Amino acid sequence: MSNAKSLEELEQKQDFIRRHIGPSPAQVSDMLSALEVSSVQELIDQTVPASIRLEQPLTVGESRTEVETLSYLKSVASKNKVFKSYIGQGYHPTNVPHVILRNVLENPGWYTAYTPYQPEIAQGRLESLLNFQTMTLDLTGLDLASASLLDESTAAAEAMGLAKRVSKAKKANAFFIADDVHTQTIDVVTTRAEQFGFEIIVGKAEDAVNHDIFGALFQYPTTSGEVVDITDLIAGVQSKKAIACVAADIMSLLLLKAPGKLGADVVLGSAQRFGVPMGYGGPHAAFFATRDAYKRSLPGRIIGVSKDRLGNDALRMAMQTREQHIRRDKANSNICTAQVLLANMAAFYAVYHGPQGLKTIAQRIHRFADILASGLKAKGIALKHNTWFDTLTVVSDNKNDVTARAIAKGVNFATNHEGEYSISVSETTTRADIAELFDIILGEGHGLSVDAIAADVEANGSESIPASLVRDDEVLTHPNFNSYHSETDMLRYIKRLESKDLSLNHSMISLGSCTMKLNATAEMIPITWPEFANLHPFCPLDQAEGYQIMIGELHDWLVNITGYDAVSLQPNSGAQGEYAGLIAIRKYHESRGDAHRNVCLIPSSAHGTNPASAQMASMKIVVVNCDKNGNVDMADLKAKAEEVAENLSCIMITYPSTHGVYEETIREICDIIHEHGGQVYMDGANMNAQVGVTSPGFIGSDVSHLNLHKTFCIPHGGGGPGVGPIGVKSHLAPFMPNHSVINVPGTNIGNGAVSAAPYGSAAILPISWAYITMMGSEGLKQATEMAIVNANYLTHELSKHFPILYRGRNNRVAHECIVDLRPLKEQSGITEMDVAKRLQDYGFHSPTMSFPVAGTLMIEPTESESKGEIDRFIEAMVSIKGEIEKVISGEWSIENNPLVFAPHTQGDVLGNEWDRAYDRFYAAFPVPAVAKNKFWPTVTRIDDVYGDRNLVCSCPAVETYRD
Ligand SMILES: *Cc1c(COP(=O)(O)O)cnc(C)c1O
Repeated sequence: MSNAKSLEELEQKQDFIRRHIGPSPAQVSDMLSALEVSSVQELIDQTVPASIRLEQPLTVGESRTEVETLSYLKSVASKNKVFKSYIGQGYHPTNVPHVILRNVLENPGWYTAYTPYQPEIAQGRLESLLNFQTMTLDLTGLDLASASLLDESTAAAEAMGLAKRVSKAKKANAFFIADDVHTQTIDVVTTRAEQFGFEIIVGKAEDAVNHDIFGALFQYPTTSGEVVDITDLIAGVQSKKAIACVAADIMSLLLLKAPGKLGADVVLGSAQRFGVPMGYGGPHAAFFATRDAYKRSLPGRIIGVSKDRLGNDALRMAMQTREQHIRRDKANSNICTAQVLLANMAAFYAVYHGPQGLKTIAQRIHRFADILASGLKAKGIALKHNTWFDTLTVVSDNKNDVTARAIAKGVNFATNHEGEYSISVSETTTRADIAELFDIILGEGHGLSVDAIAADVEANGSESIPASLVRDDEVLTHPNFNSYHSETDMLRYIKRLESKDLSLNHSMISLGSCTMKLNATAEMIPITWPEFANLHPFCPLDQAEGYQIMIGELHDWLVNITGYDAVSLQPNSGAQGEYAGLIAIRKYHESRGDAHRNVCLIPSSAHGTNPASAQMASMKIVVVNCDKNGNVDMADLKAKAEEVAENLSCIMITYPSTHGVYEETIREICDIIHEHGGQVYMDGANMNAQVGVTSPGFIGSDVSHLNLHKTFCIPHGGGGPGVGPIGVKSHLAPFMPNHSVINVPGTNIGNGAVSAAPYGSAAILPISWAYITMMGSEGLKQATEMAIVNANYLTHELSKHFPILYRGRNNRVAHECIVDLRPLKEQSGITEMDVAKRLQDYGFHSPTMSFPVAGTLMIEPTESESKGEIDRFIEAMVSIKGEIEKVISGEWSIENNPLVFAPHTQGDVLGNEWDRAYDRFYAAFPVPAVAKNKFWPTVTRIDDVYGDRNLVCSCPAVETYRD
């Protein structure tokens, strides 16, 4: 180590690791002293049970520098061939407005925020999501919209679930899907139906009415491009008391009558082509709207308008009691992470273009389709339909010649239907592109002039949209869609909203279970490279070689890290991973003649998505108790496993537990389940306490999901996107999801899909790929160890002031801890909610509140926070404790103290009246550190009950802006 070269090498190797890990070596040694251990190793030995410690180091390679990593990834990415895509089928090229690209998608102020569970410090993205909902309502013609689902196909599956819940055709058990719905949607809905035990009937749309069904799904326009008046089809379905669902193309809705106005009960679709790159399949936001009457059955989150303490309009997530964390197996769906960042992008796209701009884009797309059709018809080419918005399907006996010519010119058509091919034009299509399409289809020398045809179409108009379906109502009339059309105005609008939200670029967000660690800039940079951003998910595999290499490497590393044999990257959230894993378990049992095994054991401490997913796999849930130390009650587990042994399917267990400890009995738990013929599903949300130190496969479980948006650095995006890959042991590998359009190598043909795209949210996989590359085997292990050091230091310091609910061996915790506020609440009347809101005044986002135990805060600092930041958080918590003590001592009354009035806005503190028991300065600047970096909540405490009683889920009327 003495010569200059090795120092240089050391410096290089440490390049990224020391940037990712927050505490400096000096800070680490201070924390170790506080913990009275002499080394990190000693702490790990005290904390992690010896029986589960990995004997071998990981083999994901040595850490690489940021520069090396990006340069290698660029060479991989450049193996992707970015063809012009006319494939359509739910994915279209789009021009991402640069002001949105840079200031939203590439801006940590937007992408590092968490789900807006603390609405007073999230009004910016809540307003943007309200714009998304308002846009959805206007375009679909319905009354109630949600703030994004995972993709169009899963949204369709959710529509089926809603139909079953609300349909009055209670005896019916079949769901009808028109055969001209996108192939991948039929696939995903069929998978879902199989699990629910519903029958799927795929047939001609007109046939829906001839079946005993609880719901039906139509595509508008159809996957082959036809624009059909579905009014009668909808009425036919409804005459059977069934629910009519319509999957719609968002751009076409600018020109076409809203499906809601045609009578549809549910309208859904993808908002991708509103300025979100195709990204080889995702992430994109799905929109979903239904009737007001079905509001209690709606899947996903709804943003609603309410009032704050001072009577101002304030936004928050409405009807949260419907959410999976509360209703568990009775929840409407298992959706937790959704697609907030992408919904925001789509909403901003609508804000920026406004109704007229969007209409112009849609008209231009439609005009190009008309020009193309007109030229082809003039040359005697047979089109399948007489109507279209943007997609023409050519019935062809020389399909192979045409597609070969297309490929030679770097052009893709949709070719997955027999004897025909389809061409979808998009926002990016130009006149030169149309000329090129003529050359491809007709061969050179066809003599057509695009300009001449265009003039002709212009002069004569077109009947390609049936007159009865031409949209005649106004959309997007709200001022938010009519005020920000210059780039300066738009830039300021985006900034104004961003400034209202607390993100990781302001302070630590110590949400237990959510692992809000660094999302490094170098990890984020590749996602907007055109080589990754502009691929269609259904392009031929040989055009996606770069993706295949990157995905292959990531796959192998995740296999190594999890100790499993195979990984599927298709699920686009943790909950979707749970679902995919449970399907694999079910199919495995079925394959062995054990179809009756349907009982799922779930410890009471489990995350709400566990029972919600089990319910979607039609499993019967049996809850296993926890003992007074927070561990699985082994006697109860043994008794219950034995009792249901005959029908035991699996256990779903989180490790380390959501109580923040490495349960010593985990191997025994796995053994008990296996002895009774069950499988072990290990929820991998807490992998940040396992990577490099232990692994689910090593411990003995059979399948897990990972949350790449927790442990592997994909940012939370303000509530999505996410990726929830599953790892499985080899016996479950044959049952992992495939895809009906693109055969996913390594999985069985015929296995259904769980996501619309074969690799789910492929475009964000480079983030996790880059993280693993830059950390290497050693860095990943260090990250886990530092997460444990930070958590134990924080626990140690806080335990001087608050009871820590659960601890493991040697009084240590894993990577998070639960602070019990109930004793203080009992003495003072100050609630956990008051503490969470008061933390906002100190510039912090509250830790996870009341999960997994009511009246507590669950804190996870992660390895990325420095000791300095952790100390500031501790200082805030200690200061708040002092405030509570003043309430207990009577110095402040329970009605008049800074906790119950928290959070304090500038308007509140600077207002003309002040009748508080504490002074204004103290309200806003309770400790000196706050004054240096003050974050002002923009509304005071929000009244949830008011908002739920008066549900408003679109932008408030202009009137309210006047007062
Ligand atoms: C976050 C989380 C989930 C759900 O993951 P999503 O990506 O939000 O669907 C499941 N289990 C636990 C323990 C979690 O923390």
